Amino acid sequence: MNILEPTIFDLSQEGRQGAALPDLDVPEKPLEELLPEESLRRDLPHLPEVSEPEVVRHFIHLSSFNHHIDKGFYPLGSCTMKYNPKVNEVSARLPGFARVHPLAPAKTVQGALRLMHELGDLLCRISGLDEVTLQPAAGAQGELAGLMMIRAYHDKRGHRRSKVLIPDSAHGTNPASVTLAGYRSVQVASNDRGLVDIDDLRRAADEEVAALMLTNPNTLGLFESDIEEIERIVHGVGAQLYMDGANLNALLGIARPGDMGFDVVHFNLHKTFSTPHGGGGPGAGPVGVKAHIGPFLPVPVILRDGEEYRLDYDRPDSIGKIQSFYGNFGVMVRAYTYIRMMGARGLRAVSENAIINANYLKRKLEGTYDLPYPQHCQHEFVLSGRRQKEQGVKTLDIAKRLLDFGVHAPTIYFPLIVPEALMIEPTETESKESLDAFIDAMLTIAREVSTDPERVRTAPHTTPVRRLDEAGAGRKLDVRQRADRGV
Ligand SMILES: *Cc1c(COP(=O)(O)O)cnc(C)c1O
Repeated sequence: MNILEPTIFDLSQEGRQGAALPDLDVPEKPLEELLPEESLRRDLPHLPEVSEPEVVRHFIHLSSFNHHIDKGFYPLGSCTMKYNPKVNEVSARLPGFARVHPLAPAKTVQGALRLMHELGDLLCRISGLDEVTLQPAAGAQGELAGLMMIRAYHDKRGHRRSKVLIPDSAHGTNPASVTLAGYRSVQVASNDRGLVDIDDLRRAADEEVAALMLTNPNTLGLFESDIEEIERIVHGVGAQLYMDGANLNALLGIARPGDMGFDVVHFNLHKTFSTPHGGGGPGAGPVGVKAHIGPFLPVPVILRDGEEYRLDYDRPDSIGKIQSFYGNFGVMVRAYTYIRMMGARGLRAVSENAIINANYLKRKLEGTYDLPYPQHCQHEFVLSGRRQKEQGVKTLDIAKRLLDFGVHAPTIYFPLIVPEALMIEPTETESKESLDAFIDAMLTIAREVSTDPERVRTAPHTTPVRRLDEAGAGRKLDVRQRADRGV
């Protein structure tokens, strides 16, 4: 493969055309008669002039440089990079969904509203909650919306609280959302089993606490088995229990956050519910709430009156609007299709297989890599590259070397409480053969760390680009010069 791909502008040839329009069948009018003077451009736009096959080949070629789920295994912990069934795309491309306009009057888009209403219902049933907003465009935005609702709830009751508790294993978006929502985040320690330290939680829980944000299973892939005690402590001081449900892949059909006592939960449709993910979106981070938080949901809420669906803006306690229109509708169509195709039993099988796959990998790798928390894991687990580091090879090097085996690197250096962390989530969509190939790659790399550490330290060797200066690339964005130097 050659990374010295010309840009689409380099391919341009004057006068070459990619699209032809039919002859006009109405009288021609000069633009000057149709547009005001200030809207007319003086110079032609500098656009590449290329044929249709040149455009297609250029972008298909570029797409093959990158690793993606349709190309190979992608065990990126916490991100749930499962295969996206192509039937989701079939639904999303139906003209009645794909061509609907967000400003169309509600009575002309009843099908779209019905789909959103039913998706909300399905998420409520899966999670044990009462109401849902589909608006947020990402998990992080769902967190912010959830915290804003919790804030509005406390304000309404006349007790403005000041802080939110977060375990030290939490995803980085949690403290960021807490700060954006105007709260101070206070860390709660994990115990030696990787779970919330109950004594530390008791110490931190007081009447100034607005909420505890918990990820369950947590980012170590461990189920918080003290959840009932946690719920009593949090509700005991009048605080709300928030679940970061970005990743629900271990719970589907097995356990429901609502039954565990959670009041507010966000979901990532682009993780658990198989909508495309990575490369910056679009995503969707719906938020489900118990009935007492319902009045604070963003507007509009989609309501059903008999056979008719309508948008309700008349919610005086609402936190307002948090996203244009209703959020990323195309993502909702895909997630809805996935849930309906799987059905209740299928969804349960998703979680069972995700858990089995993760435990299989963990048992096969634990003798070779350190496993700080050895208990049964849920959909993911975290290894430590400590032992390899002592031999002079960092976790970053191991991750880069995996690329040579056609595997996307796992999440590394997260969660922060595990040194040299390798966070692995195989998902349910991988076969035993692809799991075995991954195990082979990991064992081979561990052997290389002893026999040929330089090979690991200088990896990757077979990808279109080799080891990048990542910090430099971020600071000095100069794509062409870098390619010319053949990096
Ligand atoms: C992915 C993830 C998030 C953030 O979701 P985005 O859609 O990337 O904003 C939050 N928490 C956890 C545990 C996650 O895995």
